[in-house]
Amino acid sequence: MSTRLIPPRTESTQPYWDAAARGELVVQQCGACNFHVFPPRANCPACGSSELSWKPVTGQGTIYTYTVAHRAPHPVLAEQCPFTLAVVELEEGPRLMTNIIGCNPEDVEVGMRVQVAYEDIDDSDVVLPVFKPA
Ligand SMILES: [Zn+2]
Repeated sequence: MSTRLIPPRTESTQPYWDAAARGELVVQQCGACNFHVFPPRANCPACGSSELSWKPVTGQGTIYTYTVAHRAPHPVLAEQCPFTLAVVELEEGPRLMTNIIGCNPEDVEVGMRVQVAYEDIDDSDVVLPVFKPA
């Protein structure tokens, strides 16, 4: 049984999941003003253009905020506890909600430098971008 909840994939998020499966982190970028956009949208929130395309990003960022889950919010996640749920601000600007792996939850700090990593979810074809200390 999976120890993860499988994220729903939709037409608008499929390029993100396809890239993760290749070991790449992508966000949308505006062709008119170069603004980086995440989560995916139909129009650029900076200039309104619909010329958005998926582009690789560095995968480097900092922890904007976080919390540590000591009680599983879903039975599937029980084995993961305690785990760190964080909002990571990418170098390119967008913020992603993600997990921090590879360090004790008590060592996580706001402003900590992190780097993307990829986690295969058991019993699925989903690869989940997560972050670890840089
Ligand atoms: Zn724009």
